[in-house]
Amino acid sequence: NLQILLASRPTGRPSRENFKFVRTPLPAPGEGQVLLKIRYLSLDPYMRGRMSAAKSYAAAVEIGDVMEGGTVAEVLESRHPDYKPRDMVLSHSGWQSHAVADAKALRKLNPDQAPVTTALGVLGMPGFTAYAGLLTLGQPKSGETVVVAAASGPVGSAVGQIAKIKGARAIGIAGGAEKCALVRDEFGFDAALDHHSPTFAEDLRAVCPNGIDVYFENVGGKVWDAVFPLLNSFARIPVCGLVAQYNATGDFEGPDRLPVLMRDVLTKSLTIRGFIQREFSDQRPAFYRDMARWIAEGRVKYKEDIVEGLENAPEAFIGLLEGRNFGKLIIELA
Ligand code: NDP
Repeated sequence: NLQILLASRPTGRPSRENFKFVRTPLPAPGEGQVLLKIRYLSLDPYMRGRMSAAKSYAAAVEIGDVMEGGTVAEVLESRHPDYKPRDMVLSHSGWQSHAVADAKALRKLNPDQAPVTTALGVLGMPGFTAYAGLLTLGQPKSGETVVVAAASGPVGSAVGQIAKIKGARAIGIAGGAEKCALVRDEFGFDAALDHHSPTFAEDLRAVCPNGIDVYFENVGGKVWDAVFPLLNSFARIPVCGLVAQYNATGDFEGPDRLPVLMRDVLTKSLTIRGFIQREFSDQRPAFYRDMARWIAEGRVKYKEDIVEGLENAPEAFIGLLEGRNFGKLIIELA
């Protein structure tokens, strides 16, 4: 069993030295458990938080523990009547080649219904995050303008496409021309803007002539600075992630913006609401139903970035926090 452990906690940008590779004997499943061979490992921005000891909504990975993560796995051996060898399942087995799991913690996947990798992306946690966060908190209405960054990734791409289904205008922000082309031409956003452009703030103003009604916050940083002056009265801002600052250390740059923010929260009646997707777990059945239908109808598309080899997980993860991925980042195990 090849495992990747957290070796040390990063300060700022994670590095290869924060991870340690070990080989351990294959574990044996107990009663009610299965032995899994991991096929695909999901890499997600939240893992940066798990590497840190700072207090957060979920416990940190301890030094010496296997890095946490969602996985698609094949059952090798089963001691539970609902599972048999070769079944494909969604599990939360982390950065390793094999694992034992309680059968009740698994979800069986049907490879004939959808590629199993979608259980980590558009039909999994990131897709659900977009669905629940946008519809419950963002509440886009026909004709409104919805803005989202990290728009070529699994959360952002679903946010914009669901906004379009609800009749809103979708503006996507992404890093670079290639990502912007995907967002516009493949995902059907009304416009896509490169946040690396020196004219980014003006570009955003130009494509939002009627202001912004919903800003689905994935990144923070200079994207938020450009969005903030364009927010309309009664705008909704679901705060989903702040990936631009996950590697930050110390104090943030620039003047204190808090008084101006609070003034606009008051005078524009803004709703800023953070959320963690699992708060909305009761919406999962509706999500699976709606999202599967939208994909089948061609109304929601997705892009995956599949990197081969568990040994490449640390480098791929470091790149994810810097925009080097292009679509939902997944490690395919040999
Ligand atoms: P992505 O696959 O989109 O990867 C993150 C992307 O963030 C990068 O590809 C990069 O895209 C962008 N990015 C990185 N740094 C910056 C920056 N400084 N400025 C602007 N963009 C930047 O990730 P996901 O779709 O998986 O996640 C998107 C967000 O949703 C994250 O913040 C994540 O933490 C959050 N999330 C929150 C959940 C919740 O329950 N609240 C659940 C799941 C995800 P680009 O090159 O286009 O800039």
